[in-house]
Amino acid sequence: MGNYDPKALFKLGYGLYVVTSHDGVRDNGLIVNTVMQVTDAPSRVAVAINKRNYSHDVIKNSGILNVNCLSTEAPFKVFEVFGFQSGRDVDKFADCTPQRTANGLVMLPRYINAVLSLTVEQYVDLGSHGMFICALTDAQVVSDAESMTYAYYHANVKPKPAPAKKKGYVCKICGYVYEGDPLPEDFICPWCKHGAADFEELK
Ligand code: FE
Repeated sequence: MGNYDPKALFKLGYGLYVVTSHDGVRDNGLIVNTVMQVTDAPSRVAVAINKRNYSHDVIKNSGILNVNCLSTEAPFKVFEVFGFQSGRDVDKFADCTPQRTANGLVMLPRYINAVLSLTVEQYVDLGSHGMFICALTDAQVVSDAESMTYAYYHANVKPKPAPAKKKGYVCKICGYVYEGDPLPEDFICPWCKHGAADFEELK
């Protein structure tokens, strides 16, 4: 018999990124932690995106994306704008005058320390997610600030939940609060798209 402690997966180290793309009409962007350089010479970068996210379809169609590497200067607002709403419904760049890289896609004007421009070479269907294996076409360092890690986000950026008055459940990933009891087993967090397993009871 093997062991299966899901907390072991939290020991993997991750960064946080805003992946930007363009659907032909509008710029779009979302927060992901699943970015990894997988080969050197030539450099290839893998990016996995949940199929529920609009950006998945946009990148599958357009074949290009930018990875904006968030720094520890990024405030919670960046996560609210890019992580907790869908580009299907809102223009995430309405309040922002973005800069652009050579491929025409947005690079965030602030809160990043590097930007990578990628062209999709292979698509791998992973069921819930699609993985884009990409060639690196452009890479710029824009600041010396430290990279935002997932651990840093949880410790320093994500708001602490307010003391609960009602019965409910809080998403351990993003802090979304579901009011009610019980939490439906098939519940999907409307902000970060994680499932019921990533919620815990409000105390
Ligand atoms: Fe969530």
